[in-house]
Amino acid sequence: LAVAPAGEARVTALLPYRDPALTAQARAADLLSRMTLAEKIGQMTQAERGAVRDPADIGRYALGSLLSGGGSAPPDNTPAGWADMTDGFQKAALGTRLGIPLLYGTDAVHGNNNLLGAVLFPHNIGLGAARDPALTARIARATAEEVAATGANWTFSPCLCVARDVRWGRTYESFGERPDLVSQMSSAVAGYQGTPGEPGSILATAKHFLGDGGTTFASSSTDGYLLDQGDTRLTETQLRALHLPPFRAAVRAGVGSVMVSFSSWNGVKMHAQARLISEVLKGELGFQGFVVSDWAGVDQISPDYSVAVRTAINAGVDMVMVPNDYPRFVRALTGEVKAGRVPVARIDDAVTRILTQKFRFGLFEHPLTDRSFASGVGSAAHRDLARQAVRESLVLLKNDHLLPISSSVKRLLVTGSSADDLGRQLGGWSVTWQGKGGRTTTGTTILAGLRAQAGSGVKIDHLENVSAAQAARYDLGVVVVGEAPYAEGKGDVRDLSLNAADRRATETVCGAVNCLVIVVSGRPLLLTDQLPRIGALVAAWLPGTEGAGVADMLFGPASFTGRLPVTWPRTNGQLPVGRPQDAGPPLFPYGFGLSH
Ligand code: BGC
Repeated sequence: LAVAPAGEARVTALLPYRDPALTAQARAADLLSRMTLAEKIGQMTQAERGAVRDPADIGRYALGSLLSGGGSAPPDNTPAGWADMTDGFQKAALGTRLGIPLLYGTDAVHGNNNLLGAVLFPHNIGLGAARDPALTARIARATAEEVAATGANWTFSPCLCVARDVRWGRTYESFGERPDLVSQMSSAVAGYQGTPGEPGSILATAKHFLGDGGTTFASSSTDGYLLDQGDTRLTETQLRALHLPPFRAAVRAGVGSVMVSFSSWNGVKMHAQARLISEVLKGELGFQGFVVSDWAGVDQISPDYSVAVRTAINAGVDMVMVPNDYPRFVRALTGEVKAGRVPVARIDDAVTRILTQKFRFGLFEHPLTDRSFASGVGSAAHRDLARQAVRESLVLLKNDHLLPISSSVKRLLVTGSSADDLGRQLGGWSVTWQGKGGRTTTGTTILAGLRAQAGSGVKIDHLENVSAAQAARYDLGVVVVGEAPYAEGKGDVRDLSLNAADRRATETVCGAVNCLVIVVSGRPLLLTDQLPRIGALVAAWLPGTEGAGVADMLFGPASFTGRLPVTWPRTNGQLPVGRPQDAGPPLFPYGFGLSH
């Protein structure tokens, strides 16, 4: 190749790695051969965008990836605000010696939940109840397009955790308690990734490898983290049977990345598990993509950071979500390679895996935001899809001839903590990491949906504190109970009982009038004592922005099709699933669900 007068930038335009006619593997091999050790380690480094104070750091450290951690949105939280931000970072990356574009990752786990105005779909637990893999794939597709509108090209989703103990704060990120159900829902991978390289297709992540939903409840824990990031105490045979099948399915579907779990397996941190990451995932399952760590997950291996980094990389972690002190990570890994404690072959393998996905997803051909996707954000078509998902996700648990709501019902009382609260419908991972109650984004509450559906002949009153005398004046009481939003370990609980206000509302209303109870929660709540008085009971999970989907089902004519993706316990003592049956039968078994 002739050295062009304009300098090295001109030359690189002619190099094989820039040729889209070559395979992703051939391009990655060519590019790797041109890289310095510093550039290779940069590709393995993922920084939180807020930690990058000086954009010149992208060149200085040859950073390969950035992320927006939970809720880390630009001040202008619109598609254009995001696109300006991500394009700014991308331009800095394109301006480096080899011009390698960034992977920009975000937790779009039920729609593009960090973006204001995006459509938020039911959390995975609701999709597990719907048991419709094609629907899950269509939701992932719509999500990918709402992510592409922001210039991010990677989502840390789907969570393929098999949630075995609903006291876990990440239960709602799970499609259910059984590996076969979760495996079916790995259809999300094909939805996100579409035809890799085509506009609107983003890299997916199967997470968290392995056994995150199987940790052991530690009743003695004092810091509040009882199950999350805990220890999965199973034999290898049990671990494989319960937790590996969804990852096998995701690898078959061509998932481009896998995230390691914060949890441990029999006392050893997953980030250090060479056998599971390198032998089982990459070897046995034939995973060709790259393995990313969880948020500072590497740091948990050892108080000595160099030991931690060395152990994780040698175990098979390819990219480290640092996420803050990336200079320290770069220093540590460089030192370990120079000292011969991390083989260069391991670095080359990691970088090849990362670059191959960058080529596969067309990052070199279209690194900047395709702003035409902005029109799809919050679109009517996506809202319709979400509303359909809500309808399919509802599980009818009890019905004493109350549903569908009869036309003779003229006065309807609506109450309960989650009747008119969009934020509670969304749960965690919604605008902010933990989520919060109230009107946090655009959407329809269950109450608003009921008002729109009921028609002019029905008078609906929404009362917050209701007495039995007041309740008795209505033909029907609808009590929408639920959980306040939470994410990860903050949602670990010892007790699944209803909160006091919802318990009072249920007892008062159901004691005075025919009543329908709707549960808006990331997991089963204990309703055992209330059940005899409840006329009809519906599990609505965390339905997202389209509360109207709940109202659609209450007035019929369509019947309920959702089935429980997790066992609904009678008592706290019945957990986790699979416990010896001395605790008696559950309130509702796995797979239960009525039609009317
Ligand atoms: C969670 C991951 C998430 C990551 C990035 C971690 O705390 O465990 O599921 O993808 O943060 O936000």
